[in-house]
This record gives sequence, structure tokens and C-alpha cells, in this order.
Amino acid sequence: MKFIADAMLGRLAKWLRLSGFDVAYYPDISDRQVIKIAREEERTILTRDTRLLKCKGAGNAVFIQSDHISEQLCEMKNMLDFNDPELAERCVACNGRLQKVEDRDEVKGLVPDHVYYNYGGFTRCGSCGKVYWKGSHYKNIRERIRETLGKGIED
Ligand SMILES: [Zn+2]
Repeated sequence: MKFIADAMLGRLAKWLRLSGFDVAYYPDISDRQVIKIAREEERTILTRDTRLLKCKGAGNAVFIQSDHISEQLCEMKNMLDFNDPELAERCVACNGRLQKVEDRDEVKGLVPDHVYYNYGGFTRCGSCGKVYWKGSHYKNIRERIRETLGKGIED
């Protein structure tokens, strides 16, 4: 299942990407563009905007009621299939697919030295090149998603 989040749901988009879901998000596009992309790329619209819901073509949009990230995730709980084989590690910044960095020398100079020497499990975004590592921040967010949803998410 693919999604597109409206401008008010940037945080939710990031958290879903971190869980492996394909979520398009552009902070500065109009309702009409959201609907157009949703249709072209067969994405389900996630929105906080009741006006967008009433627009023509927004038929399958899902209204997110809460302002809070944990409640938003709970609202979506039944739509999210964490066992979907299509789930992939995704770039929180751009939604690109992450690729495993086989040779850690590749990321030397791209991450802070203390990260290079203390962490492993580097991945790199195939679209924007951003480098990720399994640091504490990443773990905390995954823990929170897991607690919020009460479902197992593989590391
Ligand atoms: Zn990226």
C-alpha cells in the first residue's frame, strides 16, 4: 500500500517511511497536486484537511483526526501491514530505497568520525545519497512505533 501525506502530516510521513512504508510527501504542494499524484501513482491520500476530502477525485482519502504522532499512527493501525513483503528500508528525507553499504570505507567522510568508528550497519539512499546508521535515534523511534502499535516490527 502506497500513501501520499498532505502538507500537515510531515511527521507522520517520516515515521511511516521509517517503518518501511512508501509515503510521498511534499511540504509545498496544493491539494489539487496531491490528488493528481495520488491518482497517477495509485497512492492513498492521508490528510488533516477537510477541504481536500471534499475535492473531486479525493475519493479514497483517509482523514487523520489527531495532531499527535502516536494517535495518528493508532488511527492508521488497521491500514498498516507490517508483514507486507513490499516493505523496504526507506530514506526518511526523500522516500528513496535504502541500499546496504557493503564497504564501510564508502561512507568515510560522509558521516561524522565518531559515527564512522562507533557504528555499523550503514545504508545509503539510492535517490539522494543520504547515509544512515543504526544509531540511538533510529532505535528510539522504532521502539516508540512498536510501543504505539503493539505490533512486532523487525529490526
Ligand atoms: Zn533520500
